[in-house]
Amino acid sequence: MRVFNSLTQRVEELLPIEPGHVRFYTCGPTVYNFAHIGNYRAYIFEDLLRRTLKYFGLRVTQVMNLTDVDDKTIRGARAAGTPLKSFTQPYRDAFFADLRTLAIEPAEHYPAATDHIPEMIALIARLFEKGVAYRSADGSIYFRIAAFPEYGKLAHLDRGGLQAGARVAQDEYDKENAADFALWKAWDEQDGEIAWDSPWGRGRPGWHIECTAMSMKYLGESFDLHTGGIDNLFPHHEDELAQAEAATGKPFVRTWMHCAHLVVEGRKMSKSLGNFYTLRDVLARGYSGREMRLALIGAHYRQSLDFSFVALDAARASLQRLDAFRARLAGLAADKAAAVPPPWAVQAETAFGVALADDLGIAEALAALFTLVTAGNRALDANQVAPADAAAVLALLARLDAVLGFLEPEATVAPPEMLALLDARQAARKSKNWAEADRLRQEIAAQGWVIEDTPKGPRLKKG
Ligand SMILES: [Zn+2]
Repeated sequence: MRVFNSLTQRVEELLPIEPGHVRFYTCGPTVYNFAHIGNYRAYIFEDLLRRTLKYFGLRVTQVMNLTDVDDKTIRGARAAGTPLKSFTQPYRDAFFADLRTLAIEPAEHYPAATDHIPEMIALIARLFEKGVAYRSADGSIYFRIAAFPEYGKLAHLDRGGLQAGARVAQDEYDKENAADFALWKAWDEQDGEIAWDSPWGRGRPGWHIECTAMSMKYLGESFDLHTGGIDNLFPHHEDELAQAEAATGKPFVRTWMHCAHLVVEGRKMSKSLGNFYTLRDVLARGYSGREMRLALIGAHYRQSLDFSFVALDAARASLQRLDAFRARLAGLAADKAAAVPPPWAVQAETAFGVALADDLGIAEALAALFTLVTAGNRALDANQVAPADAAAVLALLARLDAVLGFLEPEATVAPPEMLALLDARQAARKSKNWAEADRLRQEIAAQGWVIEDTPKGPRLKKG
C-alpha cells in the first residue's frame, strides 16, 4: 500500500517497522464540547485507513488520545463550577456514542491525558537532561527550538521565516525565543483547583507533550504512522516530533498523514456564518449515521470535502440503490452456498483494492462498487445470475463492507411499538385493507423506520 507522507512530501510504500503490524497514532478530541462534523471527517478518514490496512491483511494497533486538560476544558469546568473529570465525562460519552453512530471501529487504546501526567513529567525531565528544556521566570517549562536544528522539517518551514514571523507574540511569554513552546504551564489563578505537582512546581502539561508521551507509551519510541487533520500539522505535530526526537535521538514516526478541511457549501464552517454543525445537529434533521458516513467518506482525504444537505440526500439515494441491489441478491440467493463470484463482480473487487492501495483512492473504490451494482442489476434483469452467484456476490460485498462500513444497514432492533405497527400492517394486508396498510406504513416511516420485504417476511430497518 502506498500513501502520501507529509514528512517526505512523497507517495511512498507503507512498510511497518515490525513486518505485518502497523502501529498508528491518531490525535483525538478535546472533550470540552460536542465534536463537529469537520472533526468526524478526519476520524472517518482514519477509520478508512485502519480498515484498509486490515483489508490488506495487516494487524493494526491504533491509539487515539483524549485531551481532557487544556485551556478549553479548564475554562469549561471552571464556568460550570464542577471538577474537571465531571465536566469532561459527558463529552467523552457523547464522543464514543458518535463513533458508534458513524460505524467508526474502536481503536485499541484511548488514553486520557489526565491519566498520564507522570509519563509527561518523565519526558520533560529527559528533555532537561538533553538541554532542550528550560524554566522561565514564571515557573513554566519551555522547549528550546534553537537546540533542535531539525525543527520545522515536518511542516517544511523556513527557520528564518519562522523566527521573524513569530516575533509578533514576543511579549506574550517570558521565553528565550518567541517560537519556543510550553511543555509545562505553571499554575495561575485561571486554573483554579486544576493542577498537578511536578519537580518544577504545580502546574499542568502543554498540549503537545500529552500526545508525545502517550504515543510513545503505547506504540514505542519509533512507530509507523501518525495521522490528524491538516490543522494539527503545525505547530502540534511539529512540536510532538521535536519533543520525541530531541528526547530519544531516534526517528519518531515514519509516515505522517493529514486530512484536508471540511467546508460547508463552499465556505469555512463557523458559528458566525451559521453553518457550524455537530453530528447531533445533522441527526436531528432526520439523517442517519450511515448516510453521514457515506457523505463524509467519499472525497479523497487530501482534498477538501464540501459538505451540504444536498450531498447527504445524494448519499441517501445511493444507499437506497445499494440496499435494493442487496435485497434482490438476497431474494435470489436464499440459503444457497456461495460459488465463485461472476466476472463483473471479481473485476470490481480487484479495482476496489487497487484504488485503495494507491493512497486511499476512495473515489475510484466507490466507482468500482457502483459499477458492480450497475453490472449486477443488468445481469439480474437478464436472469443471468444463479442463486449461488447471488450468494457469492453478497459475500463479496460483505468483504468490501469491512472497509466501507455503510453497506450493512445499522443493526438496530426496532422498539416493540414499531413491531406492533408492523404486525397491524400485515393484518391489514391480509384482509386486503390496502388503505389501512398504507396508513400504517406511513406511520412507521414517520418514526424513521422503513419496511423491508425479505423472503423471510417483512422486517424493519432504520431509514
Ligand atoms: Zn496530538
